Amino acid sequence: MTSLSIWEKESYYATQDIVIVGAGLMGLWTAFELKKSRPSLSITILERNATPLGASTRNAGFACFGSVTELLNDAQQMGQDEMCRIVELRYKGIKKIRQHFSNATIDFDECGGYECISTNTNNLDEDIAWLNSLLKPITGNSADFKRVDNKLAPLGLKGFGALIENKSEAGLHSGHLVRALTQKTQALGVTILYGSPVTAWNKQKNYTDITCNDKRIKTNVLIFCTNAFTNELVDDVMIEPARGQVIVTSPIPDLLLKGTFHFDEGFYYWRNLGNRILLGGARNKAMDEEQTTDLSTSATIQHALETFLQTHIASQYSYTIEHRWGGVMGFSKNKQPIVQPIAENVFVAMACNGMGVALTPMIAEDAAALVLEKFN
Ligand SMILES: Cc1cc2nc3c(=O)[nH]c(=O)nc-3n(C[C@H](O)[C@H](O)[C@H](O)COP(=O)(O)OP(=O)(O)OC[C@H]3O[C@@H](n4cnc5c(N)ncnc54)[C@H](O)[C@@H]3O)c2cc1C
Repeated sequence: MTSLSIWEKESYYATQDIVIVGAGLMGLWTAFELKKSRPSLSITILERNATPLGASTRNAGFACFGSVTELLNDAQQMGQDEMCRIVELRYKGIKKIRQHFSNATIDFDECGGYECISTNTNNLDEDIAWLNSLLKPITGNSADFKRVDNKLAPLGLKGFGALIENKSEAGLHSGHLVRALTQKTQALGVTILYGSPVTAWNKQKNYTDITCNDKRIKTNVLIFCTNAFTNELVDDVMIEPARGQVIVTSPIPDLLLKGTFHFDEGFYYWRNLGNRILLGGARNKAMDEEQTTDLSTSATIQHALETFLQTHIASQYSYTIEHRWGGVMGFSKNKQPIVQPIAENVFVAMACNGMGVALTPMIAEDAAALVLEKFN
């Protein structure tokens, strides 16, 4: 064990008011909110990898607040009021991102979004009308969702029976967002120590002792923003890992596709990245296998994605698959984010259920409010 110098003890490893574990979107937004509200607090984020490594820089970059089949399913699962509450958080989360970052900084593309439906059912128009009436007080739009079946062919899509448009949806660059948010958080005075895996934490009477590499850090408040990896550090936390896999094609010069697209309650999602296609999902083809924190890709899901791409999106083009990766989401049992204390002055903020781009800016406000009660 290398002993620390007095300089290190009094700077990087000095006792902190707040330590956050995890420098993904949740950890960053939480630190940002805390420091903005209380600039005098000393805050350090401990991130185990050289860059964040879980979901935040490995997602699809959809700035979306929900597709019709996903929201209908949510309403069934969690009730209409809760579904609307989460839509509102997502809607406000996207607005907040835009308040803090210019379109150019995060490649925010107001391309509009769509949901593809396999067969046109009788209920579809009724369902759309019902959701539009529920969402109107949230977004102010009289019709967030609109049938545009006639756009299927011009977008180059095949094998679907209906298409629903949502003009408010957008795409962004996940790497640029995380990097810009990191810089903003550091500019407020938050310290981020990368390459710092937390391996243990011990609650003492007046502080928590954190073990990180071969170092110790004391903190008044500890917050885990470790999402799918939280079970490695905390007992009895109801979060399940869910791997999401993604492929990206080579550039396609005559690509017709433009926008963000969802299918099958969000189990498939795709968008254009300039003149490439990004496609992710198919987790429902092997649910058990995909309940893992392993970030690699699997033959089953990669095959399912390539088949879907060729069948529905890209049969008319010539392309190769140039990029493949896996990321890991954290799901709660009831599909609602979890912000709660787990011991005195120890908290978790996690489980954005595959929607963290839009949700983390708002869930971080709840986490910060809860934690700041300790400093009143
Ligand atoms: C393939 C895929 C596609 C997605 N697409 C979208 C989308 O289009 N739109 C959308 O809104 N959401 C999407 N999501 C979900 C979104 O990315 C997540 O909800 C969000 O990024 C979660 O952020 P987080 O900070 O909670 O978790 P993470 O980004 O996973 O961050 C957790 C961090 O904790 C660190 N950590 C873990 N354990 C330790 C430890 N012991 N010590 C120190 N550090 C530790 C990890 O290294 C990691 O950096 C997608 C996710 C995936 C995987």
